Amino acid sequence: MYRKPVPALFALIAAAFVVTACSKDEEAVVDNYDPARDYFTFANTDQFVTEHLALDLDVDFEAQELRGFAMLTMRRLDAAASQVTLDTRDLSIASVAVLQSGTSVPAEFHFGEDDATLGTPLVIDLPAATGGSFDLMIEYRTSPASTALQWLPPELTAGGKHPLMFSQSQAVHARSWVPLQDTPAIRITYEATVRTPRSLLAVMSANNNPLTPRTGEYHFDMPQPIPSYLLAIAVGNLYFAPLGEDTGVYTEPELLDASVYEFADTQAMLEQAEAMYGPYDWGRYDLLVLPPSFPYGGMENPRLSFITPSLLAGDRSLVSVIAHELAHSWSGNLVTNATWRDGWLNEGMTSYIESRLMEVIYDVDRVDEERVLSYRELLQDLEDVPEPMQALAPRLDDTSSEDFQGGIHYSKGQLFLEYLEKAFGREAFDVFLTSYFEEFAFGTITTEQFLDYLELNLLSQEGSPVTREQAEQWTYQPGLPDGAPIPRSANLDSAAAMAIAWADDEIELADIPVGDWSPQATIHFINSLPEKLSKEKLGQLDAAWGLSKTSNAEIGRTWFIQVATRRYTDAYTELEAHLNRFGRGRLIAPVYGALASNGEDRELALEMFERARGAYHPITAGWIEAGIKRAAD
Ligand SMILES: [Zn+2]
Repeated sequence: MYRKPVPALFALIAAAFVVTACSKDEEAVVDNYDPARDYFTFANTDQFVTEHLALDLDVDFEAQELRGFAMLTMRRLDAAASQVTLDTRDLSIASVAVLQSGTSVPAEFHFGEDDATLGTPLVIDLPAATGGSFDLMIEYRTSPASTALQWLPPELTAGGKHPLMFSQSQAVHARSWVPLQDTPAIRITYEATVRTPRSLLAVMSANNNPLTPRTGEYHFDMPQPIPSYLLAIAVGNLYFAPLGEDTGVYTEPELLDASVYEFADTQAMLEQAEAMYGPYDWGRYDLLVLPPSFPYGGMENPRLSFITPSLLAGDRSLVSVIAHELAHSWSGNLVTNATWRDGWLNEGMTSYIESRLMEVIYDVDRVDEERVLSYRELLQDLEDVPEPMQALAPRLDDTSSEDFQGGIHYSKGQLFLEYLEKAFGREAFDVFLTSYFEEFAFGTITTEQFLDYLELNLLSQEGSPVTREQAEQWTYQPGLPDGAPIPRSANLDSAAAMAIAWADDEIELADIPVGDWSPQATIHFINSLPEKLSKEKLGQLDAAWGLSKTSNAEIGRTWFIQVATRRYTDAYTELEAHLNRFGRGRLIAPVYGALASNGEDRELALEMFERARGAYHPITAGWIEAGIKRAAD
């Protein structure tokens, strides 16, 4: 994903795990914590594993449901086991049958207890003669409350004439549209038949064919095994345009030209990534540009990254998100974190590769600017997040993990890899990463496996500049270790100096060469303004630079956080327009948070949220609610 899931996402996942066994007297607590276990699934993956999934689904916009069959091809690991437990959330199950050797036998099933974070376990009793390999045929339907699916009425799309539906499965939401073993530890191949209203096109994280005729019935194959969080579907009035030989973009026709312009460098990014880290193993690489309510910057669904339209700035200034999603084709999709606690292996490594790609396709100055902005956000995160959650691989199993901040995985993970790169040299580190991807391709990996592999290939070298203990400081300790790289950018230093000088009336706005600046420099200028600044000066700045009316979503985000924090009420109308224009969590949740915590405007934040929430994805709405609530505590 890109970028920084707002803390509440993982708060939602992580709450309510107490993996301690209490004996009669409450004093004796046995710690059974197992870092390699996925605590976010009910599935008994130690007894059965899924190898293949076949979906046959009708897409019903009126009922806001997917309806049909999921067939899971299962392999038994435990000869004595007689029940398969799957993850579900808000699914209705009509029937379950066990298919083997050409016969179908109905199976008894029941739901276990609901859990707010994990959903509801579906427990299937296997008929007595069930062998080592069998299919489970499950007839089911989703609910309009599915946390993965958003059903947009026509008025919330760019074209305004057709409805649109899309999924967001990461981290624990695939179970709200398919009954399955919903854990990154299990990889499956899949195929699907999807029936839609005739005028619409379905796409999936699979072998989309740009030339598919619009028939209302679509077939997909995903021959490479993927973890469940990469299952993805979208249906809408979608059209395709090529970006290069192996790359292209799907979106509504109204956004197609702008998307082709903005993402013109996608093919070059793909070729560069292959040159650096080995072959792209997935066939085509396409983008799907969704309506504004898509909760993230992007989601790395394999072969088809889902992308927010907030990147369409008109100047290609926000395309690092594309480099990020593409990089996930290696870090995340090819080599996958074993559990969400190891998420830094997905996100930190991807952020590192994103920067490397951006250096080649654009230039190092631009990337240094982005590094500085990320670093600044990381320092803020480290102030906000309790120490145990500041480790790259925190213990994610008890109630303290409510404070888990996904952002640490991104920027601290990136810094760790930059630290290793500096220590061993870029060339040697590239060789290491390429062999890492080869070694663990189509597998899952824990932090400990990564450290072992790092030790074997780099740390154990004669005269290694880094010890295992130093590496473990990054993965297990809070804060930043000594020797952590500090990103620098002369451009941003100059922007920050001008912010102070202008605030102190030493220079005029007219003296600031903002026309020559990158959006990142403008962002840094705004963030560097001193705490005490008169409303008149904020007004001057807004009038001169048009900040409240900016078309750059990241500048808007930065500005409106300041507007809310400083209670610059003259721009509240535009602030609310920003909250209505975007549904991407990163762009709006912190603005709501700033408004709710400025001491005066909590009620106003709630009112604005009530007015806008109908257009938000359920995941985003959950973040905002949690953020406003936190602000009140
Ligand atoms: Zn990501």
